[in-house]
Amino acid sequence: MEIACLDLEGVLVPEIWIEFAEKTGIDALKATTRDIPDYDELMTMRLAELAKHKLGLPEIQSVIETLSPLEGAVEFIDWLRARFQVVILSDTFYEFAGPLMKQLGYPTLLCHKLGVDAEGQVQSYHIRQPNPKRQSIVALKSLYYRTIAAGDSYNDTTMLAEADAGILFKSPKNVIEEFPQYPAVHTYEDLRVEFLKASNRDLSL
Ligand SMILES: [Mg+2]
Repeated sequence: MEIACLDLEGVLVPEIWIEFAEKTGIDALKATTRDIPDYDELMTMRLAELAKHKLGLPEIQSVIETLSPLEGAVEFIDWLRARFQVVILSDTFYEFAGPLMKQLGYPTLLCHKLGVDAEGQVQSYHIRQPNPKRQSIVALKSLYYRTIAAGDSYNDTTMLAEADAGILFKSPKNVIEEFPQYPAVHTYEDLRVEFLKASNRDLSL
């Protein structure tokens, strides 16, 4: 049995915080872990910015609803789900991903959760578990699935290492250079080919 594990942001949808920052014009929300390496500090700042701009969950979701999956992502995931069991392993939050997952046909998503109060204000965030992507692969392997994983960034590399086969997709040059052991592709067409190569079944395009 084989299962395909996909990162979400940068692979199927754009970077949600960055797109959200562009749509709302809140520059501070463009910061990523590259700018503020401490994740807790980064998230605390993001939640403070949302509060400052009086953006509660309904307002946030209505902005995210205007975002679209990457071009070709819907067709790709349909193709993949016809050939593999598919699970999305992401560091986003269910409340943020919702509008985009709807456009992707609600594939299974394992990610994190926000704490929202009765007025819709985001008060806190809850990381599902430490090293969540890698641990999800460990769990799937304990169910005797053969795992094939694809992702674009540093937060995917422990997942790729743990998987039976790993693929870099739309990765920046520095990630590709640092992890030469994984095939690196940039189009959904090539990603399909890599999934077929990684599979030990006789599948066709
Ligand atoms: Mg990503």
